[in-house]
Amino acid sequence: MHYQHFINGQWAKSATTNTFATINPATEEVIAQLPAGNSDDINLAVEAARDAFDHGPWPKLSGAERGAYLQKMAEIINRRLVELAKLEVLDNGKPYPEAEWDIEDTAGCFEYYANLAKELDNNRETDIELPEPRFKSKAIKEPIGVAGAIIPWNFPMLMAAWKVAPALAAGCTMVLKPSEITPLTALALGEVAEEAGLPAGVLNIVTGLGQDAGQPLAEHPDVDKMAFTGSVPTGSKIMEMAAKQVKNISLELGGKSPLVIFDDAGIEAAVEWIMFGIFWNQGQVCSATSRVLVAESIYPQLLERLTIEAKKITIGEGNKDDVLLGPLVNESQYEKVLAAIKRGEQEGATVACGGKRAVGFDKGYFIEPTILTDMSDDSWIWQEEIFGPVVCVKPFKDEAQALRLANDTRFGLAAAVMSKDEGRCERVARAFRAGIVWVNCSQPTFVEAPWGGYKQSGIGRELGQWGLNNYLETKQITTFNSDEPWGWYIK
Ligand code: NAD
Repeated sequence: MHYQHFINGQWAKSATTNTFATINPATEEVIAQLPAGNSDDINLAVEAARDAFDHGPWPKLSGAERGAYLQKMAEIINRRLVELAKLEVLDNGKPYPEAEWDIEDTAGCFEYYANLAKELDNNRETDIELPEPRFKSKAIKEPIGVAGAIIPWNFPMLMAAWKVAPALAAGCTMVLKPSEITPLTALALGEVAEEAGLPAGVLNIVTGLGQDAGQPLAEHPDVDKMAFTGSVPTGSKIMEMAAKQVKNISLELGGKSPLVIFDDAGIEAAVEWIMFGIFWNQGQVCSATSRVLVAESIYPQLLERLTIEAKKITIGEGNKDDVLLGPLVNESQYEKVLAAIKRGEQEGATVACGGKRAVGFDKGYFIEPTILTDMSDDSWIWQEEIFGPVVCVKPFKDEAQALRLANDTRFGLAAAVMSKDEGRCERVARAFRAGIVWVNCSQPTFVEAPWGGYKQSGIGRELGQWGLNNYLETKQITTFNSDEPWGWYIK
């Protein structure tokens, strides 16, 4: 594997000798040292992307031609699935079956946008009916230009795909800066691009830290659009940087998503979806249903079943059989999550299960599945994103109270409701102030459906047609189609 930047179709030495280490969070061992790219590296990468957009074939190819490259990338990723999934486990710590699912979804995302690229050939232009017969008008979709992408560490390769695939399908060129915590699989996309024969400069990847590499990318005047996934504070900074140049942005930020469980939901199904909503990927999921609201009549019974099942989860290294909960991604996240639990206890919450380092591990950032109860509505632990295997559970009296508590947050990424009453589910789903709503489930994500948040959870939508639109501009071409003079000044 190349531990270098991928710029203009080449594996490139960094402008700096500074490096950063990426570690295996299960063993704390260093996997590799990578170049800590700086503004010089970003300048070269943006120059390559600019040149490929302004002078190269990429934006002028038909959608079908671009789709063929994306399809090839999907095939290469599928062929390398096991190897890439293992690399994801090593770098991120997630259990292998989850990593395999991520890489399948990564290939699926390239395949999906390969098809949308082809479809673009048929729906790029729309005739517009005008009330004035002397004019005709049409709207055409064009790629926005050079796109920058900055991504987080929780789904390292998949988050890259959610940006690279639609950007390339639209005809944009791109500079990607992976998270410094998990750069390896995103960097492997450079190898995939190389093997697929992607024209030079269409996809460029620079590894580095947020301030040194991410900031110069977001601030670069030759970047026409920034796509960012990460925390709210960084998203806000990206927005400020983009504002100076009135740059188009899309932001996918954090969440504190509620799951509302009514008394007719079925305790076993509810327990299963609560666990999938908060323990999958160690709870390091932006849409994790980290606040669970339970009808008070079933609250004691549900809590008991949830606690029993949470204690049964096998914790360990992601590559070991039967493991369903791996380590947190690094020491800093591990410390943050333990501190959040402590803060919850200090605020008066009860730890119903877990709450500490998992026993039996000398090394690695393992935390037990944790259930907190009895917190107040305005407590920090109920309001703020923890990004770990920690769920806050609270009883509610009626639908109105459940909705008030569910929507009482500055976030609005996701929400979920469970009940056998379809009418109630529909009513609650519509009343949630969130961009993604799950009914009788939590977390399943499909590349066809729009993804993104209300309120401070972000701006814009990824995935589906919405994801492609992120990278397209709309131009109107209006033609005066008459031999008669216009006759305003010259009669
Ligand atoms: P983060 O904001 O710390 O970092 C995200 C990326 O931004 C990294 O690549 C980092 O290097 C870069 N960065 C940091 N400072 C920067 C700066 N000043 N300028 C430019 N780039 C900078 O977030 P994280 O810790 O990697 O990810 C966790 C957060 O991401 C959580 O809040 C989570 O909810 C959110 N998230 C959201 C989604 C979604 O789809 N909404 C998906 C995954 C993660």
